[in-house]
Amino acid sequence: MTTTLEANPVTAPSRNVSEGHVTGTIPKLTPQNSERLSMGLLVIQPSPFCNINCDYCYLPNRTDTRRMDFGVLEKVMDKVWESGLVLNPFSILWHAGEPLAVPIKWYEQAFEIINRYPRAKEFVIHSVQTNGTLVSDKWCNFLNEHNVEVGLSIDGPQHIHDHHRKTRKGEGTWEKAMRGMECLRKNNVPFGVVSVISDVSVDHPDEMYEFYRDNNITGIGFNIEEVEGANESSSLDAANSSDRIFAFLKQFYLRNKADGFPLNVREFQNAERNILEPGWCHRPDGDYYNQEADPYGMVNVDCFGNFSMFSPELLGQPTEKYGTFNFGSLITGSLFDATVSDAFQQVLADIEAGNKKCSEQCEFYQYCGGASPSNKYYENGTFDSVETHQCISTIQMPMKIVLEDLENDLGINDRESPIIELPRPEGV
Ligand code: SF4
Repeated sequence: MTTTLEANPVTAPSRNVSEGHVTGTIPKLTPQNSERLSMGLLVIQPSPFCNINCDYCYLPNRTDTRRMDFGVLEKVMDKVWESGLVLNPFSILWHAGEPLAVPIKWYEQAFEIINRYPRAKEFVIHSVQTNGTLVSDKWCNFLNEHNVEVGLSIDGPQHIHDHHRKTRKGEGTWEKAMRGMECLRKNNVPFGVVSVISDVSVDHPDEMYEFYRDNNITGIGFNIEEVEGANESSSLDAANSSDRIFAFLKQFYLRNKADGFPLNVREFQNAERNILEPGWCHRPDGDYYNQEADPYGMVNVDCFGNFSMFSPELLGQPTEKYGTFNFGSLITGSLFDATVSDAFQQVLADIEAGNKKCSEQCEFYQYCGGASPSNKYYENGTFDSVETHQCISTIQMPMKIVLEDLENDLGINDRESPIIELPRPEGV
């Protein structure tokens, strides 16, 4: 999943959530052996509707204006708290479509429902991923009042952003998104920016860097345009794209370094942490904790109470092999109903098999845990696979760039092949 800005990426749960997770020997999940599981992120889709129409969007139903009933939300929260999966504070991410297209009044009631649960105030961290075009002073008051973490989608300078991020009438959305950003700033709402890197930005690292720097945008996540869901091809499918992406990332990194690293770029921060703090995101059994591959690490609920697990991008997507990624209904059943679904067990088995291959074939495995299942599925046609464009550009390339730079600084890169011999976490 690379749809949100995780300024503080998830850390591994404090208990052993998944013995044998990548060995392919995971026992069939049942409520009886579920004590090794815990909820990490609950993605709630209040409505599939989006007020704009980006041409790389993966959501097939973004014109659908239906909205989650409060009765559905109550059921969802009942099932979450009854599940016993809430062991640590977890995030509710309001996502899918444009969450701010649902009125503030709806959220006021929704938050009131969520806060009825005795441990909610202590355990629930709200976050929202928005295109920024509907941000207002009223929204800012609400976001501040509830400490909602905000991710804003802006792709760079106007001509780059407006190339793909348009209204249904074909007009650019940059001016409104930037107004939204200024409104957040005026109201002291902290935010990070997520930018999709596409064919129009990948060759302009200097212009992109100067855009963030000049607009004082200091928390950034790059989503390299992905093949996913309704977005069946990427503008970066061309044969030489890998070289262009690498050149973009490297030049951006070097510009940032030359200025003393004023910008915090998620991909480079994770890479640096992987190198300098081996084990920072690892489970007690020594494997990297990959939240997207963990059965209840991400639970994704649509506005009708249907749910899926793993990458949120999979929710409700139709496939030949698995049917739709709909593992049950929280209106009529529990979170554990998924475990008796053949589709879920097949998806899990395939994800595990793919991760096992990653662990055997890729030297980066200890720094990603097999990366995003949805990218494996959409790029390779199966979860039971290894490398994707997404993992190359968001994990492998940033690590190579940061490691090479650290080696340069330390004067230890005079080997013929300076990279890549990565440090391994202790005990692995
Ligand atoms: S970087 Fe890619 S190929 Fe390597 S382990 Fe991670 S997901 Fe697998």
